[in-house]
Amino acid sequence: MRCPTGKNSYYSEPEVQEALIRSHIRFLQAAKNYYQCNDCGRFHLTSQGDPNLILNDPEVKARIKREQRAQEWTGH
Ligand SMILES: [Zn+2]
Repeated sequence: MRCPTGKNSYYSEPEVQEALIRSHIRFLQAAKNYYQCNDCGRFHLTSQGDPNLILNDPEVKARIKREQRAQEWTGH
């Protein structure tokens, strides 16, 4: 079943948090936060609103930097 919003759906909070972090690693269309959808009950990323607190987590920040650097090396 697809969500009427047409957005990517994530079944669990850890899953959508991972997707949020990955969007920052890839630079493009970095999402700011996620929310639980009223239509499908799953989680979606959003580029609106305040940034999610996990993005301020030093471990998460370090991981984003590290993986961005790894991507530069592989040319992506
Ligand atoms: Zn939805």
